[in-house]
Amino acid sequence: MADLTAARETLQRVFGHDDFRGLQSDVIAEVLDGRDVMAVLPTGGGKSFCYQIPAILRPGVGLVVSPLIALMQDQVAALRAAGVAAARLDSTLDRDARREWLSAAREGKLDLLYVSPEGLFANGFLDFLEQCPIALIAIDEAHCVSQWGHDFRPDYRALGQLADRFASVPRMAVTATADLKTQADIRTQLRLENAKSFIASFDRPNLVLAAERKGPKPQDRISDLVRARRGKSGIIYAATRDNVEKTAANLAAQNIPALAYHAGLDAKLRADRQHRFQEEDDVVMVATIAFGMGVDKPDVRYVIHADSPKSIEAYWQEVGRGGRDGDTAEGVCIYSAADLRRAIMFANQSSAAEQVKAVQIKKARQLFAFLDGLTCRRGGVRRYFGEENVEPCGVCDICTDPPQSIDATEMAAKAISAVMRMEQRFGRGRVVSHLIGKASDSLDEQFSTRSTFGIGADQHESVWRNVIEHLLFEGVLSEGDGERPTLSIGDDEAVRAIFRKERQVRIREAAKPERRSKAGRESKAAAKAGFIGADAKLFEALKGWRRETASANGVPPYVIFHDATLAAMVQAKPSDLAGLGRVSGIGEAKLKKYGAEVLAVLIAGC
Ligand code: ADP
Ligand code: ZN
Repeated sequence: MADLTAARETLQRVFGHDDFRGLQSDVIAEVLDGRDVMAVLPTGGGKSFCYQIPAILRPGVGLVVSPLIALMQDQVAALRAAGVAAARLDSTLDRDARREWLSAAREGKLDLLYVSPEGLFANGFLDFLEQCPIALIAIDEAHCVSQWGHDFRPDYRALGQLADRFASVPRMAVTATADLKTQADIRTQLRLENAKSFIASFDRPNLVLAAERKGPKPQDRISDLVRARRGKSGIIYAATRDNVEKTAANLAAQNIPALAYHAGLDAKLRADRQHRFQEEDDVVMVATIAFGMGVDKPDVRYVIHADSPKSIEAYWQEVGRGGRDGDTAEGVCIYSAADLRRAIMFANQSSAAEQVKAVQIKKARQLFAFLDGLTCRRGGVRRYFGEENVEPCGVCDICTDPPQSIDATEMAAKAISAVMRMEQRFGRGRVVSHLIGKASDSLDEQFSTRSTFGIGADQHESVWRNVIEHLLFEGVLSEGDGERPTLSIGDDEAVRAIFRKERQVRIREAAKPERRSKAGRESKAAAKAGFIGADAKLFEALKGWRRETASANGVPPYVIFHDATLAAMVQAKPSDLAGLGRVSGIGEAKLKKYGAEVLAVLIAGC
């Protein structure tokens, strides 16, 4: 392995950082040894040093291919400020400047040259490059090469030919986001079959995630969420400009400093608002995804998706804007089948190739199956990006309060049969009525002689809605566009598997908050923690204290102490501060802040 002394020295001298982070040193060593690499490092993981430092150290110019002009501008400016000879070729450059940079490159006086894919393949440029000493070729945002990526760019395809043209130059593919299929695609498309992969963990331990289905009054729900986090910096993503404006106005009317941001606003206003958000502590930015790139506010404490994102990649990038400083930040995603329908409609209406549309639709379905699923949130994302042996996070909504699920395979088969018997011509309402055997007009009656009429009378309407929604999320059924979308079969293969009972369908038991009283839920938690009698009471008392403290501080309860910590307190029953401090999950700061109060509760309860 290459000696990293010089690399470390460059990191310190040029960039002023003490040491490498995460996988940086491994990636850099591989490139310094002259080999190809593929690196998937999450945003903020320090990808740029992975190619910048070897480009500085190896003889010749490091070529960086990137599709994002704004990002190139920033990097080149930062490099020059650090005294590195860096340049960027784009259409804004005048002829003389261009000539100057090119001759610097040829003479080996340039360390880094940034270029877009179009620029790279513009007339004669590759021929020119063949006459230059090249240190390495880095392909940034490498996921763009893949139709499986969420950001496919056809001109990235041609980058594979660099393998032949520059056979002796180490090539690097770097990206912050690539699911497993995309990773495989990057390798084949970019001809990096022999490159070593460096896949960083996508874990963000300080993110506390939750997701919920959209209720009847989404604006009220958003207000509640924001009010409970008053005084903190947050981002709310909405799908449309209209919803952005509405949501921001609704919050502003409640004296919450909320600003709207979308591409329809003029540039000056957008810049002003971004500036305010960046500078002030408690501004809530309500935005479309136009707001994001280049936002590096460290103390964003929550990200709410008022409408669901496009894919798991997009979700992770967007919630990832919370908690850059490493402190706890929350992500709350609100989703609905209507959001999924909209995503599918947009994909279908886009001008992309059929195959690309199919991928977008599939990614949307994967996202909804994830949101509506039953597995740990952070764990789900990490597995999606290819991590193995992932432990549950312990703090997300699923980990802290696992939804009850039931085997709905038989019900799914009934619902699918009903859709088929009704000739795939009707929407949810009529299909549900048909299942429970309700015929309210002549159209319903027309189908009342079918064998599926009334086969679901033993279940409540809401259960059937739930089953159908779930089948839509999984893509087993699909739903048309328009005002009154009709249900049809979405995946014949899956339908057959469900009929043969080879595929299990598990759905969440619908939440019935009104039926379960708070007290009922609490004692359920105590039972889950394994306490009975006095211990259960003590556990409840601690939870009561935590609830009050949380609401007084405007934070969610787990931010004060996790359930596991409360349970450990019950078990240990410490009688003084020192004892309490030994309970796992209580650090110095929390002991100082809450120790006395917790002891009081413990002592009163023992
Ligand atoms: P990304 O992977 O998102 O492109 P960047 O390369 O822009 O990340 O780096 C993100 C931030 O982290 C930058 O501000 C960079 O200076 C900083 N950074 C990267 N590596 C290190 C390091 N080894 N030590 C300290 N800071 C680092
Ligand atoms: Zn979890």
